[in-house]
Amino acid sequence: MKLNLGSIEIEIAKGDIANQPELEAIVNAANAKLAPGGGVAGAIHAAAGPVLYKECRHLEPIKPGEAVLTSAYNLPNKFVIHCLGPVYGRDKPESELLANCYRNSIRIAEEAGITSIGFPGISTGIFGYPSNLAVEVAFNTVLAELPRIKNLKKIKFVVFNTEDLQLYHIKLKKISAG
Ligand code: ADP
Repeated sequence: MKLNLGSIEIEIAKGDIANQPELEAIVNAANAKLAPGGGVAGAIHAAAGPVLYKECRHLEPIKPGEAVLTSAYNLPNKFVIHCLGPVYGRDKPESELLANCYRNSIRIAEEAGITSIGFPGISTGIFGYPSNLAVEVAFNTVLAELPRIKNLKKIKFVVFNTEDLQLYHIKLKKISAG
């Protein structure tokens, strides 16, 4: 499903964040040490190759809400923006820290002149953030940033399972209904 808001296209799709060839940048739901690990980070590092972690070692550690930019190496993208989501129930205020992930990723993308970006459901895996709450933060933060966006033309939410896709659909429908 797609929605055009001004000059920016918002898309939601089920898929693997490490296999998004049409996007210039993808966002990694990273850990503080920017290490491979599981979930999104595991998939991204596996596809990018070990040289990604070599670059990451110079940039870690990062704090919840922070984001950093690297090359994408063997991934079909140009850049990876690594951000650390909050661990639900531990890093507070969770919604503010999660919003910072989306805000800082967009800011970094804009600074680099990136035109398309893909987000996974940051914090909704191992970090335990309920998807129904995270989707509100993700969309509301992106919508609030739209007036400041100059370079980005496409923002894609890449979700991994059907239940999450349904949540994103409902939210995007609400937005398109105004
Ligand atoms: P976090 O540690 O921030 O919670 P995870 O990587 O554990 O990050 O999971 C974040 C979300 O991404 C979860 O909803 C999970 O189902 C989903 N996910 C896991 N692997 C992938 C992938 N390869 N592509 C897209 N989404 C993924």
